[in-house]
Amino acid sequence: MAAIATLGSHCALQVLKGAKEEGLKTILVSEKKREKLYRRFGFIDELVLVDSFADILDNKCTSLLEKNNAILVPHGTLIAQMSSKDIESIKTPIFGNKYILKWESDRALKEKLMRQANFDVPKTISSPKEIDRLVIAKRHGAAGGKGYFLTTNEKDYKKKRDKLIKQGVIKGDSDLYLQEYISGVLAYLQYFYSPLKEEIEFFGIDQRHESDIEGLARIPAQEQLDIDNVPSFNIIGNSPMVLRESLLDKVYSMGEEFVLASKNLVPPGMNGPFCIEGVYDENANFRTFEFSARIVAGTNLYMDGSPYTTLIYDEPMSMGRRIAREVKEAEKANQIEKIVT
Ligand code: AMP
Repeated sequence: MAAIATLGSHCALQVLKGAKEEGLKTILVSEKKREKLYRRFGFIDELVLVDSFADILDNKCTSLLEKNNAILVPHGTLIAQMSSKDIESIKTPIFGNKYILKWESDRALKEKLMRQANFDVPKTISSPKEIDRLVIAKRHGAAGGKGYFLTTNEKDYKKKRDKLIKQGVIKGDSDLYLQEYISGVLAYLQYFYSPLKEEIEFFGIDQRHESDIEGLARIPAQEQLDIDNVPSFNIIGNSPMVLRESLLDKVYSMGEEFVLASKNLVPPGMNGPFCIEGVYDENANFRTFEFSARIVAGTNLYMDGSPYTTLIYDEPMSMGRRIAREVKEAEKANQIEKIVT
């Protein structure tokens, strides 16, 4: 039987707890500095201590995972800390489609996939000269919102950009991607696509708490004007959300369109967990600014299931547990190649 392995960060606790609930062996690849944290949890069967996550490419680590017949569940930390090329070279089988992770990290590819899925994507501003509205400057990859800023004109953009360069957060313009800022209600829609059942499951919605943009709303306008710091969108945590039921049909169809588009552009497609991220504008239209092609940390809210998984399962179903169940079902049907790359 397969074991489930993941990196010690992001949603590792949920993933391994879920695997244990499904009766699978659990392995955590952890940096030494986090050993104390992870030893607290009895559902982690084996801790592989490394100096840095890049050691997952080492022969020693690879052969240990191979010996355990392990499947690696990728998450945001893997993407933030390793290049797409390195991820693709990992010898351990990866749950889902490792080739789509590049499409998450590269803004141009990301936009291509979102447009192919017929998403309503906010306008890309191709150069600072063209900033003619409220714009968000974002970094490439899974930066977690750190170093992002808002701006309305080229002069202000340059001032903020230079501040980030001075702080060593970015090197220059090419590290930033400019997108029209959409005002409304942010929502992060979590899905699971099963290549075995060829079916999409909607798992839940979260909202993000981002620092220190969120703190800005607590400061009266007069004092805001006197502050000279550039607020960031550094993600600190998540909270749950449910949608008006009339919006759900569109949520499912967006998930299905995304799966279809990714099948065409990045075979074998968007298998396993993913997240579509955006803003409901004043007309309740969903404007998609982002996707994550793997499990998101917002699913940590629902370790005992969400209002939406309750509609599908008669037992508590976390995303971590759902992944482990797919592994078990694939093994039973002798179709493991359908769920890993
Ligand atoms: P991202 O890295 O694209 O997930 O963006 C990080 C955060 O920036 C999001 O969670 C939002 O709070 C914000 N954000 C990104 N793009 C937009 C946008 N086009 N309009 C409004 N907010 C955005």
